[in-house]
Amino acid sequence: MKQFEITVSVKILTDGELNETERRLIESASAACSNAYSPYSKFSVGAAVLLSGGEIICGSNQENDAFPSGMCAERVALFYANSQRPASAVVAVAITSAISGVRNSEYVYPCGACRQSLLQSEIRFGNRIKILMANSTGVMTVESAGDLLPLNFKM
Ligand SMILES: [Zn+2]
Repeated sequence: MKQFEITVSVKILTDGELNETERRLIESASAACSNAYSPYSKFSVGAAVLLSGGEIICGSNQENDAFPSGMCAERVALFYANSQRPASAVVAVAITSAISGVRNSEYVYPCGACRQSLLQSEIRFGNRIKILMANSTGVMTVESAGDLLPLNFKM
């Protein structure tokens, strides 16, 4: 039998440890969170995608009566960015959440489908995407979408 370990470096930062761009990205995600359409779960998520040129594109989760037809905030923002700015690499994504309009004190991580989509954007542009997951007290970060999806699918 062969065995190996997979390790991921995760940082938890305070507001004072963020740079100005990261702070602005998280503020954008928080603003987007208020645009979520989540009448069923009451769980709102906002995502802000930072492009290589500095532009920020936001998205929020959009629920649907037919549940699988809804979409996560991360993929709303990511797909919009990739479709409207196809030459711009995504370099970072900030994610925030709220429950019934109150900023969540727990960290929220991208779901599996969003992790795979973020990874695809890394493959597409050949760069890592920093993920910033902000709650009401801090920001958890990883340096790459691949860190959230070890042993991932690639063609
Ligand atoms: Zn998702």
